[in-house]
Amino acid sequence: MNKIIRTLTFSDEVSLVLIDATDMVNDAIAIHALSAPAAVAFGKAMIAMTYLSGWLKDETGQISANIKGNGEGGTICISGDSSLNMRGTIQNADVHSSEDNVIGHEGYMTIVRDDGYKQPFVGTVAFHDGRIERLFMDYYAISEQLPTYIKEEVLIDENKRCISAVGLFMQAMPGASDSAKMSAYKATESLDGIAAEVREKGAAAYVNEHFPHGDLEERDCAYRCKCSRERIEGLILSMNRAEVEDILLKDGKLNVHCDYCNTDYDFYPEDIEKLFLEA
Ligand SMILES: [Zn+2]
Repeated sequence: MNKIIRTLTFSDEVSLVLIDATDMVNDAIAIHALSAPAAVAFGKAMIAMTYLSGWLKDETGQISANIKGNGEGGTICISGDSSLNMRGTIQNADVHSSEDNVIGHEGYMTIVRDDGYKQPFVGTVAFHDGRIERLFMDYYAISEQLPTYIKEEVLIDENKRCISAVGLFMQAMPGASDSAKMSAYKATESLDGIAAEVREKGAAAYVNEHFPHGDLEERDCAYRCKCSRERIEGLILSMNRAEVEDILLKDGKLNVHCDYCNTDYDFYPEDIEKLFLEA
């Protein structure tokens, strides 16, 4: 299941978003061969970035996060667009300690948000523990000055399959009362077992049961890479022809690997010949 549900709650003073990204996390596990702790951290980062992508206004809008810490997972990059196509990379997917050791206990996250007009917005926030939720809450508090409460759970079974991946996000609307903010804070602090419950009942039923709310807006999201042979061809055409010929001479082919979806694109001498001829 991949779904993002948005509504208003607590007298319409708080926006509530619930994301079920179970299939998305399973796609990430398959593409990157994530260990269980890496799947939890990467999954949580991807759910949070799906939330951020959901606020992009322009249809050409895109957003990316670069999480660079001292953890065993190395750098994690996640990006998304306004259609909620999400993708990401992780330096080391084979982490076998705990979830918070994936990004580590010291580092920075940089968010670049391109709303399709003017200059992209760039926000950087430091982190001092390995918790992804805390990192994104700090980002919202510091860079966007929007108090946001986040609860995320990613459940991985013994066969390294994600059985449920859920994120709950509550953001105070401008002018929200202190009591509405407190209700949002308390809700995210007290709701445990959210992933298991959403798995059992479904996302909409979960929201119905736990929150008074207005209309539910539902959208799909997915792990989807936008690379294609055509795009790679454009990349090759921007290279120096002599440089391309050198690689062909050495390797017999030009291989381009997409780190986001783990796809190899191979170009043989006849492909390159044709490509430059047509251009
Ligand atoms: Zn790709």
